[in-house]
Amino acid sequence: MSWYEAKEYFTKNDIAIVPAGSNEQHGLANPLGTDHLIAKSIAEEAAKRTRVLCLQVIPFGVSPHHKQFWGTIFISPKTFKQYVRETCLSLSYYGVRKIVVVNGHGGNLAALADLARELREEGIFMSVFQWWPAAVNLLPDLFTAEERRHAGAEETSVNLALHPNLVNLSKTRNAHIRKHRLQQEGITLPLCTVDETISGVFGKQSTASAEKGKKVLEAVTNELVRHVELLKKAKMDDLVQKPKV
Ligand SMILES: [Zn+2]
Repeated sequence: MSWYEAKEYFTKNDIAIVPAGSNEQHGLANPLGTDHLIAKSIAEEAAKRTRVLCLQVIPFGVSPHHKQFWGTIFISPKTFKQYVRETCLSLSYYGVRKIVVVNGHGGNLAALADLARELREEGIFMSVFQWWPAAVNLLPDLFTAEERRHAGAEETSVNLALHPNLVNLSKTRNAHIRKHRLQQEGITLPLCTVDETISGVFGKQSTASAEKGKKVLEAVTNELVRHVELLKKAKMDDLVQKPKV
C-alpha cells in the first residue's frame, strides 16, 4: 500500500487488524517464530476475506519464561504494551477506532488486556483474538488437553499446515511435565518453562498432522472473520455502554 492507497482506506474505514506474536522456543521440532507466523497467517487470511486492513506482524513478545532456551527474544510487558499502544495510536491518528489484535502468544495477553482498557478511555475499542481458545471451543474433540499445550500436537499441526518446511517431525517429543520439589497448592514459585520441561515441549507433540492443522486454521479463521464483521458494523456507542438510572 502506498500512502495514497492508505488515505483511501482510512477515509472509508475505521477498523484495522494488528497481528502480534513472539519469537520463542517451541521444542526441537518447531521454529522459534511459531507464534508470530501463525498470528500473521490467520490475520492476513481474515483481512483478505473481510477487506479490512492488516498491519505487519509484531514479531517479538513477552517471553521471559522461555529465555533459558537459545534464540528466545524476551521483551518486558511494559515495553511490549507501549509499542503496541503507539502502533494503535498511529492508526487512530488516521481515524481508526476499532482494532482487532490477533495475538499468537499467551504471554502477551495480560499486557494487551491492560492496554485495551486504557485505549477504551481514549475512544479506541481494541479486542484481542487468540486462536487456541477458539479452537478448543470449535473443535473440542480434535486434540486432547495434553496435545493442546505449548508446542504440543495442535500448535505443531498448524505449523505443518502453514509451513511444513519449518517443522522437523523427526525431533518431536512427548514431554513428561516435571513437578518442582517445592510445588504445592497455595504456593507461587518463580518457575520458568525449563523447570517443568527440559525439551521446551509441554505435553504430547508426536500426533501432529497437517490435516488436523488445516481443520484448526479453517475453523479459527472463520471465527475471526465473524468477529471482524460484527465489529465492522458496530457503532462505538453500542460497544461502550454508559450507566443509566
Ligand atoms: Zn506458541
